[in-house]
Amino acid sequence: MNDPSMVASAMAVGVIGTGHVGLITCLSFASVGHRVTGFDVDASKTETLRQGRMPFHEPGGQAMLEVATASGRLAFTDDIAEAVAGADVVFICVGTPIGASGAANLLAVEQAAREIARAATGPLVVAEKSTVPPGTASQLGRTLGEERPDLVGQLDLLSNPEFLREGRGIEDALHPDRIVVGGSSPRGFAVMRRLYQPFLDAGSPLIETDITSAELAKHASNAFLALKISYANALARVCEASGADIEAVTRILGGDSRIGPDFLGAGLGFGGYCFPKDLAAFAHLSERLGYPFPLLSEVARINDEAVQVAVAMIRDAVSNLEGKRIALLGLSFKPDTDDIRFSPSLTLARALIAEGASVAGYDPVAGAAAKEEIPELQVVDDPYDAATDAACVVIGTAWPEFRALDLARLRELMAFPNLVDGRNFLDSESAEKAGFNYRAMGRPQLRSDPQTSGV
Ligand code: NAD
Repeated sequence: MNDPSMVASAMAVGVIGTGHVGLITCLSFASVGHRVTGFDVDASKTETLRQGRMPFHEPGGQAMLEVATASGRLAFTDDIAEAVAGADVVFICVGTPIGASGAANLLAVEQAAREIARAATGPLVVAEKSTVPPGTASQLGRTLGEERPDLVGQLDLLSNPEFLREGRGIEDALHPDRIVVGGSSPRGFAVMRRLYQPFLDAGSPLIETDITSAELAKHASNAFLALKISYANALARVCEASGADIEAVTRILGGDSRIGPDFLGAGLGFGGYCFPKDLAAFAHLSERLGYPFPLLSEVARINDEAVQVAVAMIRDAVSNLEGKRIALLGLSFKPDTDDIRFSPSLTLARALIAEGASVAGYDPVAGAAAKEEIPELQVVDDPYDAATDAACVVIGTAWPEFRALDLARLRELMAFPNLVDGRNFLDSESAEKAGFNYRAMGRPQLRSDPQTSGV
């Protein structure tokens, strides 16, 4: 598919919150010719963007930022009025963190809606891109009305949930599998069709629906993807008990077109800013609506269990974690991002440190953020440094560069040649050939040699 072509009629777009979703939204709309202004409460982020630098790692982002700002179609402001006044559409892209009760904390969304209403100068479409529980729009509608009774009927609230994946965010934003717009106002739908026309022309389908269904669909999608991962991890436990190989089982399972091969990777489980918090928020919401949806809490439990299984595997490999050095390769929650929020690899690091191990971590881009999160973690600049004198190397994140590791060299540097592949990512035969005592999640161990363990 070609990239979306330049639009004939450029529209003015405001984006409130220039984090992972907001900034990619800015970049994708500017790339098709709209005039975009991004605003964030974090002044240091705005300053970084004004200096032309990405505040986080996203493949392709830096180049797109440079093109968009040089074209004059993308600007960043610390005055929300500049993003809102005169805009055709303003997107709410602020964070929706998990609250103490498990419910989504919608404070930033509400604040953003109030500020947008105050700054509005006339008819405006306000689109929720943040992931919010169904029912949020009706609250936000009231908020807009409270702030600007003079604009009643002119502020159209819509839901436009975002489905991009960090690490592939640009591609996902330019070529979404589907564009979802939930609302009730014909004018709002018409504005969104115009805005997204280049993406529709490039082949992305548009689904227009009511606002509550759009809000719910985002939660339903994330929960289903999380469910697939937890299903594979639960199967991995059965494989471990029965001697079957999860990789063979999921290959067979995923070959069924009704199931599909994606999101069936057994390993340390899911993390990141979306699945864990959205799953909790969805469970909390369902309970509040009178349907507890126990499947969702089971998905989360299986995910937590996956890290515990890895800890047990590492403990078993090195006999006793106390005083042992463990090399942890990969710290971000998944490859191609420096996002460490809810990273299973960091949950694993904490558990190993709690049992007395010293953990030396390496990540191509997330080292500094991980060190800030876990000060006891030793962060090194090279996977071989991490492995030096280690009793076990653990793959925490499936960074493609780990496939190119010189396994023989890695093994030579180590105190004991144990390799626990928390992502079932390396080639087991190559690892065995290099002399490793290789263990993976849900896979039979090819060779177990007590001489090579940390006894
Ligand atoms: P993020 O933390 O990267 O970015 C949120 C930004 O909002 C931050 O820069 C923050 O400073 C800013 N902000 C907070 N309050 C604000 C306010 N009142 N006004 C202006 N800016 C404000 O978060 P994110 O990953 O971009 O996620 C944003 C939303 O999108 C969340 O609801 C998330 O669930 C959803 N989402 C995220 C992803 C993803 O992959 N990260 C994908 C789809 C949907």
